[in-house]
Amino acid sequence: MTQFWSAATKGLSPYIPGEQPRVPDLIKLNTNEHALTPSPRALKAIANESPDALRRYPDPNATSLVTAIAELEGLSPENVFVGNGSDEILAHTFQGLLTSAEELVTPDITYSFYPVWASLYGMQHHKVPLKQDFSVDVDGLCHTNGAVLLANPNAPTGMTVELSELERLISSKPERLVVIDEAYFGFGAASAVQLLGSHQNLLLTRSLSKSHALAGLRVGYALGPGDLIEGLRRIKDSFNSYPLDALAQVGAEAALRDTDWLSDASRLIIENRVFVSEKLEGLGFSVCPSQANFLFAQHPNVSGKVLFEGLRERNILVRRWDYPRIDNYLRITIGTKDQCMMLVEALSEMV
Ligand SMILES: *Cc1c(COP(=O)(O)O)cnc(C)c1O
Repeated sequence: MTQFWSAATKGLSPYIPGEQPRVPDLIKLNTNEHALTPSPRALKAIANESPDALRRYPDPNATSLVTAIAELEGLSPENVFVGNGSDEILAHTFQGLLTSAEELVTPDITYSFYPVWASLYGMQHHKVPLKQDFSVDVDGLCHTNGAVLLANPNAPTGMTVELSELERLISSKPERLVVIDEAYFGFGAASAVQLLGSHQNLLLTRSLSKSHALAGLRVGYALGPGDLIEGLRRIKDSFNSYPLDALAQVGAEAALRDTDWLSDASRLIIENRVFVSEKLEGLGFSVCPSQANFLFAQHPNVSGKVLFEGLRERNILVRRWDYPRIDNYLRITIGTKDQCMMLVEALSEMV
């Protein structure tokens, strides 16, 4: 009975996540999940959690996890906020912080959830076009006045803005908030965490979904100045006291403390990324330089749509958008070495 929908509900155009089909033997390279299984230490911590920990409510402040993140990042717990995936944290960031600005500023091509939140939280959205080569137009962003939200590395291009350029953006207008979405932290890009000490208008969000192979656990975190973090807490405590369940709290902490797992796993993804990138270029594709666990590529002779469908027939699922400027591109998650070889083999039959 849509008569009970509010005007706001009627006006929404919700985000459409990548498909999660339950097809056996499907090579699933469409949602940037990690190629490996998570840290064994994280799995053990989850398995060892006591029945009592499930009988009780979890720690609403996830104190142990927050303290661990602070320690690992050289920050204090007042600078750390955790949430049910970075999507939840970004939603709280809109409601609690970004809406203090006149408008939201993002690149035109970026994570397609941003315009959905802008609309949900009633913000004007100013889009600054990426340059011809899909790099972020930092000057263009500097010249705007609204609050900036930037994925770095950007999605779906995988391309990164250098730290010195980020700093130029952050310091160009200290009175405006800059939120950097580091969902693809860990795959080679420098983090803006080292800029936090000297800037009061900077907030970072991160996710365990990509870097730590824990998309199913739903854990993300934000790093920033104490008053921004406190703003997020005020929203969280007015929304859901327990966004992270007991298993997520212990699993995430063990995963983050297993820094050897992260460096080994990231090295493997980077190796596979270089392998696929070189093979695709050999087949004539142009490939964006990526520092994420995916590649964004197009072929001069065969359309993105035809390639997408050809891969699908061969049981390989990638992601593609019918958006201006990028409708010819495929976004391909970096899988295991075997998956990468099968992908390259399939594409070589089509171009
Ligand atoms: C995957 C992704 C997210 C969401 O991550 P979760 O922590 O799983 O909610 C946020 N931003 C970008 C750019 C992403 O690609």
